[in-house]
Amino acid sequence: MAVIRTILGDIAPEQFGACDFHEHLIRSSGPELAINPWYDMSDVDAAGEELQDFIDAGGKSMLLMDPIGCGRDVPRMLEIAKRFEGKAHLVMVTGFHKGGLYDNRGHWSVICPQRQVVDMLVKEVTEGMDIYSYAGPIVERSSARAGAIKAGTSNQMITPFEQNALAIAAQVQKECGVCISTHTDMGTMGPETLKVLKDNGADMEKTVLCHTNKMKDTNYFLRMLDTGANLCFEGADRPMWATDTECAMNMLYLVERGYQKQILLSMDAGRNVWQKGYMKKEGKIVNGISYMLTDFVPLLRKVGVPEDALQDILVNNPARVLAIG
Ligand SMILES: [Zn+2]
Repeated sequence: MAVIRTILGDIAPEQFGACDFHEHLIRSSGPELAINPWYDMSDVDAAGEELQDFIDAGGKSMLLMDPIGCGRDVPRMLEIAKRFEGKAHLVMVTGFHKGGLYDNRGHWSVICPQRQVVDMLVKEVTEGMDIYSYAGPIVERSSARAGAIKAGTSNQMITPFEQNALAIAAQVQKECGVCISTHTDMGTMGPETLKVLKDNGADMEKTVLCHTNKMKDTNYFLRMLDTGANLCFEGADRPMWATDTECAMNMLYLVERGYQKQILLSMDAGRNVWQKGYMKKEGKIVNGISYMLTDFVPLLRKVGVPEDALQDILVNNPARVLAIG
């Protein structure tokens, strides 16, 4: 029987509910924090407020997209998952981000034998995620297992480091049946990412490309969707990349052409300045993760996306791509 592997254990896919398919609640270390303090998201209480707000808006589940070496914090996420037991289903990832966030010559994913790297990531899915996220030589597995694997690519380029990580992700998927979800930088290199994954035996139907909405190019979307792969849109509340209406109209375009089974939705609020839980403490008003359900989904309805498509995008598609076994 197929299951979705949450932080607190396996559940039936029908229990998963309305999902934010690319999200961040905790990021407590990693190279991004050194670039800008807005990437610091290490406050369990603030994250809990944000999650509660999402639940109050009708949300139920999230795929947390912080991979190894980029601030993934298994103990803090376990704490949040336990606080929300029975109220939210949280899934974490193993795998890697884009190459720019690692030492591309010295990182263990490239200097160690690929077979052994695959085995380490498989164990995160089958046995438990390392509480230190493989930051050093000491490994201590937690009760929380990874439910998907991440990989990433650069802006208009897939580097050798990234090709290796994509090959590893495909292999882990073949061995454990997990969904592959990738970061495409500025939305570029989507079709090329799919080709590398496919050449390595990945299942396109269990592959999701994130951020490609930033390209705002309908023919570009079709090139990827026609391989059978899925696209996760996160255009809401990001006016520097697209207006909400532009994003909604692009989604409508794809739904009208029959692709509603291959579209997912997220906020990707991966900065503290995009979350109410953090900004409330500073007296600032922001939209937060719940905006996806309180404002963007009603906009999708308004432009003509039918209810059955919304049900697929929010509930059925996430459950299908994350189902293991
Ligand atoms: Zn993200």
